[in-house]
Amino acid sequence: MRYLILYFLLSFSILQSYGQLTYLHCGSLLDAKGDAPRSEQTIVVRGNSILEILDGYITPPDTATLVDLSNLTVLPGLMDMHVHIEGQSSPRRYEEGFRLNDADVALRATIYCKATLMAGFTTVRDLGGSGVNVSLRNAINSGYIPGPRIYTCEKGIGTTGGHADPTNGVRKDLQKDPGPKEGVINSIDDAKKAVRQRYKNGADVIKITATGGVLSVAKDGSGPQFTIEEVQAIVDAANDYGFVTAAHAHGSEGMKRAVLGGIHSIEHGTFMTEEIMDLMIERGTYYVPTISAGKFVYKRATSNPQFFPPMVRAKALEIGPKIQETFQKAYQKGVKIAFGTDSAVSPHGENAKEFGYMVEAGMDPYEAIKSATMESANLLRISDRFGSIEAGKIADIIAVSGNPLEDISVLEQVIFVMKDGIVFKN
Ligand SMILES: [Zn+2]
Repeated sequence: MRYLILYFLLSFSILQSYGQLTYLHCGSLLDAKGDAPRSEQTIVVRGNSILEILDGYITPPDTATLVDLSNLTVLPGLMDMHVHIEGQSSPRRYEEGFRLNDADVALRATIYCKATLMAGFTTVRDLGGSGVNVSLRNAINSGYIPGPRIYTCEKGIGTTGGHADPTNGVRKDLQKDPGPKEGVINSIDDAKKAVRQRYKNGADVIKITATGGVLSVAKDGSGPQFTIEEVQAIVDAANDYGFVTAAHAHGSEGMKRAVLGGIHSIEHGTFMTEEIMDLMIERGTYYVPTISAGKFVYKRATSNPQFFPPMVRAKALEIGPKIQETFQKAYQKGVKIAFGTDSAVSPHGENAKEFGYMVEAGMDPYEAIKSATMESANLLRISDRFGSIEAGKIADIIAVSGNPLEDISVLEQVIFVMKDGIVFKN
C-alpha cells in the first residue's frame, strides 16, 4: 500500500514537471522586466511554468493546446499588495460583525476571490480579517474555489482601542480584552507573542496598524498607536520567521516610528512628510498608496451621509481626498511604489482602477504596471517565480485589448486569465 501511494505521488509530480504544453500566440507582449513591448510572440507553457518565449507565431505540436491571443496585449498576472479578501464595505458592515459566522463570511468571500481573479489579479496580499482568509488561501491553493494566490496576515496587529482592536465601539460588558492572541498588544512581550501566534495560525505576512484608521469606530484616524520599541519587537519577531511586514499609517508620527522600526511597507501613507519619504528611500521601504480606498470613502461619505457611522464619516472626509496628492509627491521624490487598493473598502474586482489614479497623478504607465508586477513580487520576495513573463517563472499570464501604455484603463477589462498554468478566463 505504501509503495502504491509513493508510486502515485511520484507519477503526479512527474506529470507536474513535464505537464501539458500550451502555446500562447501574443499580439503584443509586455513582459514587465522593462523591455519594450514585442509584437508577434509565442509563450510556451509547460505544466504551471513558462518554458520559453519565441519570436513569431510558432505552430504547436499536436499534443499541445493553442491559445490565440494575437489580437491582444499579453502581460504578467497582476498583483495587489493590499486587499481584505473576506469582506466588502457596506452600511450594514458594523451590524453584521455581530451576526455573521465564519461560514457566512467564507461563502461571501468566494465571490470576492473569483471577482479578483477574473479582474486579472493572480496574486494578492491580504492585510487583515478574522482568520477565514487562511482557509480561503488554502481552498484556492487546493483548487476547491477559483481565486488569486493569497499571502495573508490573518489578523492585523494593533493596540488597545487601536485600528485593529476588534472590540472598538462595542458595549463595555461585551468587551473582553482581546490580547495578543487576537492581535491586540500593549508591550514588547505582547508584540512578540502576537507575531508568533500569527505564525502558528498560518499567516504568510505581518500587518500592524501604526496609526488610527478611517473605518474603525474610534475618534482618531491618524495619531500614533505603537511605541517604536513595540514596532521593533514586531519586526524582529517577524524577521525570525521570514515574514514581510506592512504598516497601515495615516499620520506622520506613527508612520515615522514604523519606518524607523524597520517595517517593509507603508500602507496609505496619507500625511507622509518629506522627511519620511527620505527615510523610506534611504531604507528601501515600499509605499503602497491605496488611492482607490481614499477616493471611495470620500465619495461615499459625501454622496450618502448614512453610509458610515458619524465618527467614521468625519475621518473619511478628512483623509480620503489626500492620498492621491501624497502619492504624487512620493512618486516624484523616488519612493519605491508597490500597487495596492485596499479592496474591500472599494469593491473587489475593481482593483485595476488604481492604475488610472496613479497615471492621473503623473506616474508613467509602464511603471504603474511594474508596481503591480515586478515591484510587488520584490516586496513579497517572490520575484524569482513571479512578477514578469520570463522562462522559468510560474505561468501567471493575462491579456487585454488595446495598448495599456497608451490607455491604462484597458487594464480594467481583462479578457484572458491564466494562473499557475490553468486558464480561468478566455
Ligand atoms: Zn486595509
